[in-house]
Amino acid sequence: MTPKDVLEFAKEKGVKVVDIRFLDYPGVWQHFSVPISELDEGSFEDGYGFDGSSIRGWQPINASDMLVIPDPSTAQIDPFFEEPTLVLIGDIVDPVTREPYSRDPRNIAKKAEAYLKSTGIGDIAYFGPEAEFFIFDDVRYENQPNGCFYQVDSIEGIWNSGRDECPNLAYKPRHKEGYFPVPPTDKFQDMRTEMLLTLESLGIDVECQHHEVATAGQAEIDMRFKPLLQMGDQLMWFKYVLKNVAYKYGRTVTFMPKPIFGDNGTGMHTHISIWKDGEPVFAGDKYAGLSETALYAIGGILKHCRALCAFTNPSTNSYKRLVPGYEAPVNLAYSSRNRSAAVRIPMYSASPKAKRIEFRTPDPSCNGYLAFSAMLMAVLDGIENKIDPGEPLDKNIYDLPPEELANIPSAPGSLEEAINALKEDHEFLLKGDVFTQDAIDMWIEYKTENEINPVKLRPHPYEFFLYYDI
Ligand code: GLU
Ligand code: MG
Ligand code: MG
Repeated sequence: MTPKDVLEFAKEKGVKVVDIRFLDYPGVWQHFSVPISELDEGSFEDGYGFDGSSIRGWQPINASDMLVIPDPSTAQIDPFFEEPTLVLIGDIVDPVTREPYSRDPRNIAKKAEAYLKSTGIGDIAYFGPEAEFFIFDDVRYENQPNGCFYQVDSIEGIWNSGRDECPNLAYKPRHKEGYFPVPPTDKFQDMRTEMLLTLESLGIDVECQHHEVATAGQAEIDMRFKPLLQMGDQLMWFKYVLKNVAYKYGRTVTFMPKPIFGDNGTGMHTHISIWKDGEPVFAGDKYAGLSETALYAIGGILKHCRALCAFTNPSTNSYKRLVPGYEAPVNLAYSSRNRSAAVRIPMYSASPKAKRIEFRTPDPSCNGYLAFSAMLMAVLDGIENKIDPGEPLDKNIYDLPPEELANIPSAPGSLEEAINALKEDHEFLLKGDVFTQDAIDMWIEYKTENEINPVKLRPHPYEFFLYYDI
């Protein structure tokens, strides 16, 4: 859509309010609204001002004025608001220089797409994330049968909400058996269907919805692959729609990677392929029907995986998922069959057009634009430098004897390790000015000061179990 099309579309839909959206550096959508009278063709050039110092990971207070420029191609009608509301996702620019902001994730995604073209390796990179999630009760308003009433406003409140004094003693299916018996074991069919239909009403192609392996309400809804920037936008709509549909049902959705000990965690396996002149670059006659280029792409992912994790698995909780035994990859190897490998080559279809690599390490606590951009840069580095991925590993890695396992590198064990890996290994991200040094430094600083250190400083509930009576 052009600005003119957007204005016509808004008129047709009786729009009264325009909601402008962009995301903070960790990846949460931010918004403010203006009346439709404040939107004209000029708004798509002049943008709207806001205070960038209040946005996590952005400007210092002394340089806080920023502009958000709505992108007309993102126009949608919000499916949840009562008044017809036009949503426009925006790009962030400096009001003085009019330069795109180096820490705006959409800007980084656009530069990654431009860099791909500049290499001549391809013209489109497709991303297909399988974002899993959990549906939980909304503990803030839960009224327990034994009369306990929780009303908690904070994470600290959840710890103190007396969960252990109000246990649910009713029948519970066993861990890891959610994939995928029919109702009544599956209690979320209607909710997932409403999520699916709402996504489709926004023009987002959905391939499938199902219960996932973790028994306590884990689910998956798969979107059809799309180019990088478009998938970045879609992932924002995806999270927004799922959370808001769940909210209507008095539930919550979380993309936290490992909410429950002893059951599967939440991954975001990401399917990646590159196309050039309408042809799939990853299809060929090598291992598992891949091209040599695809093998180099895998080489790039495996080589940079530990640093990549700082963007693809960017929470302290991410590393509680990346442990053996829960279908999450731990070791940095590739295979056509093996779900325990970090990179899998799906064999569902023999068609060269379906040829892609599935990077299984990421989880949906990531900022999609940054994660996809970093993955593409690792892939391109592998191809440009002909990085050999070594031999495939067609065995169950979880069952390998320790001597064999010792030769296979593994994913970082903590966010701190991933951040340290990023400090050492980020040249591949700087190519084409895709990630700038200040964007990487701020990511490292933000994650260290706001997540790694605060988590380290707090006594853990399990420490009370271990040490209280020591
Ligand atoms: N939930 C698993 C993970 O953490 C993946 C299960 C699946 O194969 O879809 O990666
Ligand atoms: Mg899954
Ligand atoms: Mg998968």
